[in-house]
Parts: sequence; structure tokens; C-alpha cells
Amino acid sequence: AAEEIKILLLENVNTTGQDILRSQGYQVTALKSSLPEDELIEKIRDVSVIGIRSKTKLTARVLREAKNLIVVGCFCIGTNQVDTKVAAERGIAVFNSPFSNSRSVAELIIGEIISLARQLGDRSNEMHKGTWNKVSNGCWEIRGKTLGIIGYGHIGSQLSVLAEAFGMSVIFYDVVNLMALGTAKQKPTLEAMLGTADFVTCHVPELPETKNMLGRKELGYMKDGSYLINASRGSVIDIPALIDAMRSGKIAGAALDVYPAEPAGNGDYFTNELNPWAEDLRSLKNIILTPHIGGSTEEAQSAIGIEVSEALVRYVNEGITLGAVNMPEVNLRSLTMDEPNHVRVIYIHRNIPGVLRGVNAILGDHNVDKQMTDSRGDVAYLMADISDVNVTVIKDIYQRLESLGGKGFSTTLA
Ligand code: NAD
Repeated sequence: AAEEIKILLLENVNTTGQDILRSQGYQVTALKSSLPEDELIEKIRDVSVIGIRSKTKLTARVLREAKNLIVVGCFCIGTNQVDTKVAAERGIAVFNSPFSNSRSVAELIIGEIISLARQLGDRSNEMHKGTWNKVSNGCWEIRGKTLGIIGYGHIGSQLSVLAEAFGMSVIFYDVVNLMALGTAKQKPTLEAMLGTADFVTCHVPELPETKNMLGRKELGYMKDGSYLINASRGSVIDIPALIDAMRSGKIAGAALDVYPAEPAGNGDYFTNELNPWAEDLRSLKNIILTPHIGGSTEEAQSAIGIEVSEALVRYVNEGITLGAVNMPEVNLRSLTMDEPNHVRVIYIHRNIPGVLRGVNAILGDHNVDKQMTDSRGDVAYLMADISDVNVTVIKDIYQRLESLGGKGFSTTLA
């Protein structure tokens, strides 16, 4: 029953998320801060669901103590703070919110395109220092200019629509053939795209293939006096090459929101052995440097609260894993009121031969209406809807399933 589901939310999870979980009737405890490891271990033993943001580390040690935990909600984008592999081995699903801030990033890029075209950062800095420097030389409207988008995914395609509304022509390069929105055009190669764009912006994931994707050679293909923006990942641009291209005037302006190594908290400037050129960057003209704020808006935080808590509710109530980062994606049509006395059995186990035979032998004694199973790496996930069962039968099914070595839970009886 819903009131038996204990949820611990740490790090001030957005109220949009808390409200959705409370409205389900779950027992929700929400704390403003994270917890030190020992305290976390004490608290986590008791809960079925934990919601965290980026500061709470769910290490293998913590997860091993989390005997009743079935699911983790990361109310943020990244999941590096969670040992997702150990979680999967222990049958604990992990959800995050990868796309809730796409619009915020796309809007920031529009702001940066205009700011670079008008040298807004420099004029503002000059005024802060008391200098009036009214210039029009090298300042442009963005109407009629060409925007080149590298990576036409959630952010790139959203940006495409916004840029066209400003009268820009949009071209893009992506490894996948994609439906172009509006009058945007996909270019067959990165080189072809770079040669025709006045503004180039990167929206690709961090991958071995995207590391230094824009290096000396690629910057050389760009138009003289063009602009470069990166709010994807710090590894995508070869920064020393960018510094040289800006010094020579090849690149007229740049905006960076991400860096090869970023500080863990506010306050420290990003000079360190991985960012040795930080001082050079600061000395350049018409460069906007921001501390990874592309997705940092109130709207994105509230959208993250909704997206993650809805995923948690779907998982707790129906075992649906759509969007989980460490489990196969499994979904069956929802149980309805027309199917009384049904129960949905979830069984998570190691993906090794023979287990399913054992599971089917147990479920085979019952009336299985629908069943789905899928695997991802070492974990396999089974969902089965069984009819004509009561609480005693369910307990028996679970004891027998768990004796096979995996982890099971059932969702509420319909
Ligand atoms: P997405 O997965 O929706 O889109 C990425 C696109 O890049 C896909 O269309 C993919 O096919 C394409 N791609 C992959 N490899 C490529 C390659 N080698 N060459 C060309 N295209 C390639 O991702 P998204 O949500 O649009 O996010 C894009 C990036 O932005 C991610 O790196 C993400 O981490 C980053 N991001 C940054 C912030 C921020 O605060 N600055 C916020 C959100 C996301």
C-alpha cells in the first residue's frame, strides 16, 4: 500500500517533485541538505525510495546497506554521484532528468549569439571600469546570418527553431540523419558546415569521438571573423587552438560554459593542471565565460522535479523502467480497474542462462496475463501481470523468487 512506501528526499528537492510524491500517499521525508556517509547509511536502511541531487554520494558501501531500497531518483542531469553498476546488481533502478533543461540551454545560446555579435560583454566590462566606448565597427545584427549547429538533439533542434525566429538561416551537422525543423538544412560533413556558418555552436555528448572535435584543423575551416559557442561538454573544443584562433582574429568571439575540468563548488576559479590556459582565456576580447549555467534556471529545476518524481511514481506503482539509466527499459500496458485481483510481479536478476526457467516454473502455477523480460549488460528485468492471486499467494511467489537469488517486488494490487 502507498503509505508503506517510505521516501527520503535530500538536498532540497524541488517542491514540484515533493508534491507529486506526497499526493500518492507515500511517507515522504524531505531534508534541505545532503547527509554524511554514516548518517546516510543509518537513514537509507529503512527507505524504499531515495531522491538526491548532485552532492549525495551513493557509493557501493551505502548501497549495500540499503536493504529495502528499490529505486534512486537523481533530481539532476548527471548520475556520476551514484554507483549505478552496483545499484543494478542489487536490483535498484536509477532515474535522472536528462532533458528538462534543454530549453534553458537553447535560450542561453540565443542570448550569447546576440551578445557576441554586439560585443556586449566587452562594452559592459568597459562601462564597469568607467570607460565609454561607443563602436559599431565589427558589430552585427544576427538577422540573415547563418547558424551552424553541431549535434541536432534535444538542445540543437530547440535552438534551431528559436534561431529561425530571429531571421537566421540554420544548418546543422549530426552523425544521424535527422528531420530538419523549419527550413534548417543538414550538412553531410562537419567541414561543409563549418565553412558556411557565421556562428557555430556545439551540442554533442561527451564521447571519445567528440573529444577535441573542434581542433586546429576544424577551426581553420571556419569563416574568417566567425563565432564559436560551446555549452555542451568541456572536452569538445581544443581550447589552446581556440585561443590562437581568437588572437589571430580568425574567430571574432566565443562563449564557453563548460571546461575540461570544473570545480566542485562555487568560489574557486577554474585554474588547475587540467585548465592551464585559464589566464589566457581571461585575457581575450569578446569571449563570454560562464560557470556551466546553461541549464540553471528556476524552470529547469521545477521541470526536473516533475520529470523525476513522475518516473519514481511509475516505477513504484507499475514497475515501469522507461528512462532508467541502469536497467533495461520495460513497460506493459497499465493494470486497470477491469482487472481486479491482479498483481504485477517485478523480478530483477543476473542475466545468466537458466534463471528464467526457474522463474517461469514459479509463475507457471498461476494465470500470467502478460509478461515481458529484457536485459541490459548483466541485469535482466522481468515484469509479469498475474491474475487471481491474494496477499498470501504473492508472499509465497516472492519467497520462491528470492530463493533464486534475484530481487523482486510487487506493485499495488489493482
Ligand atoms: P542529445 O542526446 O539530445 O543530442 C546530442 C546529438 O548529438 C544527437 O543528435 C547525436 O546524434 C549527436 N551526436 C553524437 N555524436 C556526434 C558526433 N560525433 N558528431 C555529430 N553529432 C553527434 O543531447 P542534448 O540534450 O541536446 O545535449 C547535448 C549536450 O549538451 C550534452 O553534452 C549535454 O551534456 C550538454 N548539456 C549541457 C548543459 C549545460 O548546462 N551547459 C545542460 C544540458 C546539457
